[in-house]
Amino acid sequence: MHLAKRILNVAPSATLAVSNLAKEMKARGETVFDLSIGQPDFTTPDFIDQAAVAAIQSGAASFYTPAAGLPALKDAIAAHVLDQTGVRYSPKQLVVTTGAKLALYGLFQVLLDPGDEVLIPVPGWVSYVEQVRLAGGVPRAVMSSSHFKVTVDDLEAQRTKHTRAVIINSPSNPTGAVYTKAELTLIGNWALRHDILVVADDIYRDLLYNGATYTSIIQIDPAITANTVLISGASKSYAMTGWRIGFAAGPEKLIAAMTKLLGHATGNPTAAAQYAAIAAFSSDGQSVAAMRDAFEDRLNTVYPLLLQVPGFELPDKPQGAFYLFPNVRRAATLTHHTSVDDFVAALLAETGVALVPGRAFGLPDHARLSYAAAKADLVEAISRIQAFVGQN
Ligand code: PMP
Ligand code: GLU
Repeated sequence: MHLAKRILNVAPSATLAVSNLAKEMKARGETVFDLSIGQPDFTTPDFIDQAAVAAIQSGAASFYTPAAGLPALKDAIAAHVLDQTGVRYSPKQLVVTTGAKLALYGLFQVLLDPGDEVLIPVPGWVSYVEQVRLAGGVPRAVMSSSHFKVTVDDLEAQRTKHTRAVIINSPSNPTGAVYTKAELTLIGNWALRHDILVVADDIYRDLLYNGATYTSIIQIDPAITANTVLISGASKSYAMTGWRIGFAAGPEKLIAAMTKLLGHATGNPTAAAQYAAIAAFSSDGQSVAAMRDAFEDRLNTVYPLLLQVPGFELPDKPQGAFYLFPNVRRAATLTHHTSVDDFVAALLAETGVALVPGRAFGLPDHARLSYAAAKADLVEAISRIQAFVGQN
C-alpha cells in the first residue's frame, strides 16, 4: 500500500497513544491511574446536554449548518469573548471548528506555503509540530529560557525571512505557565514589527489558580489584535472534549480562507454539538467556576506531594491549565532506566500510573502529569510513583 510522504513524515499523537494504552489496560481489568490525557474528568454540565437534546428532538440538529457554524453560536462566542476580553469580533471574523485542534489544523493549511516557518515554543503541545508539517510548513522549535516561557530574545534567535507565525499558548500545555501582560506586550510588538502572525492558543484561559490573572495578547492593543488569530474552544472550560467544538477569531481574510477549506473538509461541526455550545458559551460561568475550584484544590494537593517524590523536580508551581511538568531525569536514573521514556513505560507497567513522556512536548527529561482526575486517585497515584522510585 502506497502512502503519501505527507503522512509518513508525521509522528502519531503521543498523548492519544498513552491514553489508548491506558484504556486497553483498563479494559483488561487492570487498575490504571490515567494521568496522561488532558481532559476534565467531569461530565458535561446538564444544562448543556439538555440544549443538545432539545435540538435533536425538535429536528433542528438534523441538518447541515453553515460551514463556519450556526450564526447563533458565532454570536454567543463573540459575546463571550467580548465579555472576557473587551475585544469585539464580527461574525465574519469567527469560524467554528470541530475542536480547537481543527481550528489550528485549518489555520496552518491556509497560512503556510512549502518552506514557511512557524515558531513553536518548547515545551509545547504535541500537535503543533505535526500540524505545521502536514501543511507543508517547517516547525522551528524555540527553547524557552524563562520559567518555561519564551522571550523575545529566544524568538528573535530563531526568526528567519521565512517565519510566518509564532504560537503562544497561555496558560500552557504541558507546563501550566501563564505569560504576563508585559511579556505578551513585548512578544506582540516584536511580531508586529516583523510581520509575523501571532497564534494565541487560549484554550486554558478559564483555568487559572491561586489568584493568578490572565490578559490575552488580543487585549493589549488594536494593532496586536489585528495581527493575531485567537484559538479556543469549549473542551476544557465546559468539560466538552467529546463534543468537538472549537473556534478561530481573527482577520477576515484568514477566517474566510479557513471557512472555504472547512467547507470542503467537515462541511460543518456536528449540529447537535453546536447547539450544546450555544448553551455553554451563553452561560453565566458558574459551571466553569465549580470545575476550576476543583482543579485548584487538586493542584494545591498534588504539587507539594510531587515535590516529595525523589528525583522529581519542579521549581515553579503552575498557575493554570491542569498539568504538572516535572523534570524526572533523576528519578529515571534512580530506577536504573537510561531514558525517561523507559521510566514512564515501566511506571505504567508496574504501578498502573500513566504519564506522558516529556519528549512529546520537546523536553525528553520531563514527564507530564494531568491532574484533571479525582483527588483520591491523584493521591494514590503519587504514592505509587513514590513507592516505585523509592523501592529501586
Ligand atoms: N490546544 C491545546 C494547547 C491543547 O492542549 C488542546 C488539547 N485538547 C487543544 C488545543 C485542542 O483541543 P480541542 O480540539 O479539544 O478543542
Ligand atoms: N490536548 C490534550 C492533551 O494534551 C488532549 C489530547 C490531545 O489532543 O493531544 O492531552
